[in-house]
Amino acid sequence: METVVVALGGNAILQKGEKGTAEDQLRNLEKTSERLASLVEKGYRLVITHGNGPQIGNILIQNEAAKNKVPEMPMDICGAQSQGMIGYMLQMCMRNALKRRNLNIPVATIITQTLVDADDPAFSNPTKPVGPFFTEEWAQERIRSYGEKWIEDSGRGWRRVVPSPQPISIIEWPSIKTLVEEGQIVISTGGGGIPVVQDKDGFLHGVEAVIDKDLGAEKLATMLGADKLVILTDVESAALNYSTPGHRIWLNEITVDELSEFLSQGHFLPGSMAPKVEAAMRFIQNGGELAVIASLDKVEEAVQGRAGTRLKRSLSDS
Ligand code: ADP
Ligand code: MG
Repeated sequence: METVVVALGGNAILQKGEKGTAEDQLRNLEKTSERLASLVEKGYRLVITHGNGPQIGNILIQNEAAKNKVPEMPMDICGAQSQGMIGYMLQMCMRNALKRRNLNIPVATIITQTLVDADDPAFSNPTKPVGPFFTEEWAQERIRSYGEKWIEDSGRGWRRVVPSPQPISIIEWPSIKTLVEEGQIVISTGGGGIPVVQDKDGFLHGVEAVIDKDLGAEKLATMLGADKLVILTDVESAALNYSTPGHRIWLNEITVDELSEFLSQGHFLPGSMAPKVEAAMRFIQNGGELAVIASLDKVEEAVQGRAGTRLKRSLSDS
């Protein structure tokens, strides 16, 4: 039986223009779960990871708005909250989708920590914008009082930026592996996992950072020894010349060397397509069989290597 790690993009939970009500998120997750359940029906072992950008953004707003009444939580705890919230909705929707197919398979969410290196250069150069936009006065106050880093974001206002370090290890992977080998469906590593560092005595501590969810998914897939990593998003694949639609070239089957060359030519936007491309290449270099970047509607074809941008180990053995 093949093990597939599926990384869900933001569109699996929220569509553009939606506010993010519970109803919005459940409606989208129901559709997403129908698609994923059909993979389970076909006999794949499924591990699900997901993004959490809008959800953690909203939690940060709630924190901010209520900070005179309830203590503000640091980002790692906000990350855990978002994993729990999305995990609950997804595990319920998955169970229901499986029940419609008369499949009685347990589904569980694992709150997941991802180890990062305290000396990762990202910590001295925070780049990842999080949460809502604020005024300059607001930003200056946060910089003064909390030592946070804020930047002016292309005329739209001020936004907090946090480090985006590389994932080194998925702390909960042995639990995830045990459940997957049992035939259970696991939701984990949401938002790339909660970033934690290890001190010199081996103890873990949460940090204020954000791990890229695509890179977190790759680390999980590699540590589980999964056969396939399928990164699902809102476009059909990675493209060349993406910003000039008239000259866009959608990439299908490709080798790591070719993709790496296109990456260094700047074809893939940092923070959106570049981390997916990077994750796909790492998965193959780490011994995975197939890595695909595809649209959520094409998940079945993607898993079979018939849609999206596909990297195969067999084509990259040179
Ligand atoms: P997700 O939530 O799925 O991670 P992202 O917005 O982070 O979604 O990444 C997907 C987006 O990447 C696409 O909607 C597209 O606008 C953008 N993108 C940037 N460069 C490219 C490219 N070269 N090919 C395809 N999409 C690209
Ligand atoms: Mg993304």
